[in-house]
Amino acid sequence: MSQFAVIGLGRFGTAAALELLRLGHDVIGLDGAAKRVNPLASKLSYAVIADATDEQALREINVTSCDAVLVAIGENLEASILSVLHLKNLGVAEIWVKAASRPHHAILSRLGVSRIIHPEEEMGIRVAQALNYPMVNQYMALGHGQYLVEIELIDRLDGTRLADLLTGCEQIKGFLVKRREAIHSPVPPDFVLQASDTLVLAGPLKLLQRIAPRLV
Ligand code: ADP
Repeated sequence: MSQFAVIGLGRFGTAAALELLRLGHDVIGLDGAAKRVNPLASKLSYAVIADATDEQALREINVTSCDAVLVAIGENLEASILSVLHLKNLGVAEIWVKAASRPHHAILSRLGVSRIIHPEEEMGIRVAQALNYPMVNQYMALGHGQYLVEIELIDRLDGTRLADLLTGCEQIKGFLVKRREAIHSPVPPDFVLQASDTLVLAGPLKLLQRIAPRLV
């Protein structure tokens, strides 16, 4: 279990805080507005109404003992930047920040935060990917053009050997198959797939795109 702090409990911050809780972590929340903090007060390990630009308030919620702090103050540029500066001064190493604009991004990257998040853009890319390949549940970019993709197999592919599905694209690896409660990993080329298997493939995006029509 890790401990996280979420500064700014708007829609984005609240969603992140609740998901971290669901994943079993300890979450501290801070927002300047009582109406944002109160609905979460009984769920979070610690929830405070305070100004994120007040270094003392940040010190009091013990941000330095957190594994990471997420600053989710989107629109209020000044508050976001000041809050990040205070977190840096307090010695917080892992700071993730939601950015609302290009200037915001530019300042954050000069401040050297660990990760800058653009939720609307990132969501837009995810939605476009999902529309493009509706059978892809989730994907993860591994860098250098390599991806992991999770696919729900359709009935038509029941009884298909993995090697036949990947003909001509042997660089793609069968990473795992989830069949009901069981996990099969790695997946050998002669593995016979069943409808409703969850198949996770790893390989270059270009090849994954080439086999996409075989999956629908
Ligand atoms: P979202 O799109 O995720 O709802 P918002 O930018 O609307 O994002 O929400 C930002 C949250 O940050 C709001 O709940 C707001 O009360 C809070 N906030 C803004 N400025 C401060 C501040 N100086 N101190 C604490 N919380 C703040």
